[in-house]
Amino acid sequence: MTVQQKMKTLTHFINGVETAGTSGRYSEVYNPTTGEVIAQVPLATRDEVKQAIQLAKSAFPAWKKASIGKRIEVLHRFRQLLIERQDELIEVICEESGKTKEDAKGEIVRGIESVDMAISAPQMLKGEYSVNVGGNINAFSAKAPLGVVATIAPFNFPVMVPLAITSMAVAVGNAVILKPSERVPISALYLSKLWKEAGLPDGIWTVVNGDKEAVNELLENKEIQAISFVGSTPVAEYIYQTGTKHNKRVAAFGGGKNFMIVMPDANLEQTANAFLGAAYGAASQRCMAISGAIVVGKDTEKRFTEILKEKVLKLKVGPYTDNEVDFGPVITQQSKDTILRYIDGAVEEGANLVTDGRNPEICETSKGFYLGPTLVNNVTPDMTIFKEEVFGPVRIVVGVEALQEAIDLINDHELGNGVTMFTSSGSAARKFQEEIEVGMVGINVPIPIPVGYHNFGGWKRSKFGEGHMFGPDQARFFTKAKTISERWPDETEDTTSSFAFPSN
Ligand code: NAD
Repeated sequence: MTVQQKMKTLTHFINGVETAGTSGRYSEVYNPTTGEVIAQVPLATRDEVKQAIQLAKSAFPAWKKASIGKRIEVLHRFRQLLIERQDELIEVICEESGKTKEDAKGEIVRGIESVDMAISAPQMLKGEYSVNVGGNINAFSAKAPLGVVATIAPFNFPVMVPLAITSMAVAVGNAVILKPSERVPISALYLSKLWKEAGLPDGIWTVVNGDKEAVNELLENKEIQAISFVGSTPVAEYIYQTGTKHNKRVAAFGGGKNFMIVMPDANLEQTANAFLGAAYGAASQRCMAISGAIVVGKDTEKRFTEILKEKVLKLKVGPYTDNEVDFGPVITQQSKDTILRYIDGAVEEGANLVTDGRNPEICETSKGFYLGPTLVNNVTPDMTIFKEEVFGPVRIVVGVEALQEAIDLINDHELGNGVTMFTSSGSAARKFQEEIEVGMVGINVPIPIPVGYHNFGGWKRSKFGEGHMFGPDQARFFTKAKTISERWPDETEDTTSSFAFPSN
């Protein structure tokens, strides 16, 4: 029996139990590779979310009190299960997202990196201690979990993003509510089973499926202490504004327009290879995908475009069941239509299609949501295709005269998630690294995603609020500091009243 046959009508996962939805509202879950509906996911009402929050709140005190060692034991078992069930999990991810198997495996490996980071939580929870700050008083600070916290996740990393956020939140003692994307809920439900099997107490990991209605309850419910959101920029901004209005700690990670600067001194063959995978991998549905090349110098631009064209035309688009495929379909027909509009719009605005992926060969035999790799040049900064994130395999080439012009174009862009530069010049790299206004920067690195123990997050409209994903910052985001001053006077010490402001 395949995964979809087992899970025709999906559930929530509340208080350790698969719980049927009661709203009567459902959203269809597709297999993008075939275009078929594989399941329907319930969309929770505000009342269902409220109940889930209450149950999480009841579970929180015991988890908070559990020794850090006991909590970490659960994470160790969870990590082991992720490895043991990797093949099954890959199948689940591929079926509902259309990713290639290699790509799904990569996302699990990166997810496990976040679990590893969470396993090191004891190190990060160590407080600070000062002896005798005055009058035999010792002062120390301790980190306490926040309570019930929520994560709202996007479709493009059905496993990695939930793991990246929730592992640390759980490890430091919170109860977590995950609202996965309604397009990929099966992976989140699969993770629920693993948490349960690992011994996580009921109520500490909850999945509520839903749409804006469920999200609004999470944003407004006074029991939710913090929200970590990952998704598109307009929704990230809405989450940040609404969540903070309701006094929550919010980190909202949005979209990206990530450029690769190509310098005339770069090895163009190597750079083109780096561009290809980083730009078109996962059908470009990555917040850190390279969106386009900004090439310095007319001659370099011409040569680089020729090399890219030859390579792009050789890319293979198809189903994840074919191991030779470079990337699969986009997530839905609606998404495909949006991407097609971007291509048509670019042509109308005067850009040129170096390669045209609007009608890939595979569409003759498959109803999957496929698009071929499209490369667009003659792009200028005033065009929509330059200004907006295109979440599909349409990438651009922009020509500039000098490095300064490339840096200025990127700094003027409203998004600032990732950026990279290919060069053999140390001084150019240094100028770039110092002057660029972007959160994650690469030098001769195709996708500059920080590893799990470094902080992840963009600048400008790619991130709203403080706090990072991954890294030590995440432990800070999901805890609050308590500073304690203590003194144990003996009978002989002077404890008379003092009306002056305490000083040392
Ligand atoms: P999305 O913004 O459409 O959805 C993200 C989540 O928000 C989903 O759970 C969805 O149900 C919910 N949502 C959607 N519309 C909402 C609304 N109006 N009100 C409340 N909740 C709403 O994003 P997506 O299409 O699932 O994911 C792709 C986007 O995510 C891209 O823009 C990509 O760049 C971005 N992304 C960013 C990062 C990052 O780390 N910065 C990582 C992955 C993806």
